[in-house]
Amino acid sequence: MKKILSLVLFCIMGVLSFGNDVLYVGTNAEFAPFEYLENGEIVGFDIELINKVGEKIGKEIKIKNITFDGLLPALQTNKLDLVIAGMTMTAEREKFVDFSDDYFVANQVIIVPEKDSSIVNLDSLKGKKVAVVLGYTGDLMVSKIEGVDKVQYNSAPGAIMALTSGKVDAMILDSAPAGSYIVQNKGLKIVKIDAEEEKYAIAVAKGKKELVESINKALKEIKEEGTYDKLIIKYFN
Ligand code: GLN
Repeated sequence: MKKILSLVLFCIMGVLSFGNDVLYVGTNAEFAPFEYLENGEIVGFDIELINKVGEKIGKEIKIKNITFDGLLPALQTNKLDLVIAGMTMTAEREKFVDFSDDYFVANQVIIVPEKDSSIVNLDSLKGKKVAVVLGYTGDLMVSKIEGVDKVQYNSAPGAIMALTSGKVDAMILDSAPAGSYIVQNKGLKIVKIDAEEEKYAIAVAKGKKELVESINKALKEIKEEGTYDKLIIKYFN
């Protein structure tokens, strides 16, 4: 009896201490090349980066794939420890969560049908039907331009489909995923715009200072030792 009891205790302790070594990381795998599904597996630049961070800080990374607008609420309610999702650090989001140092600089771009010549900058979106993804920074950006007929979609693939089928005139998206979509979908092109630079960072629930510091230290090492550059070459060349 005693033996069984100690075995049970041993297992419980094992599970508890193991639990402390796991970081649950939320993402939305619809944002290639940062996070996407390949043969049912979540892969991408962000996924490799966060696994390297996990290695450095001695934590096992478990990825959870949820909707983009569910990510920060899940952090706030402690259902997740971290979020890595090509997420731009914005003043609005910083009211609710903390961010690590940034790890990538991006821009918004416009995607239009190849034959379009009327859309050349943000101003020319006036009077046009423009697809955005709900809650993305591109959504916010378009909201600030008067006279645009903004149409919100739940995901980038949904918005791209609306564009290729002619339901909308243009779409706004972050530069790197836009690049991979125009390769996959023929007949589209990118219009670069004069938009503010955006910085991607890892989000953490408010007040977890030690965790943020350890992530920043790991990111710094990953950059210094050249691992970061290798990932950039792998996913962006
Ligand atoms: N960078 C954009 C944002 O933070 C889009 C992110 C994403 O779609 N994963 O809103």
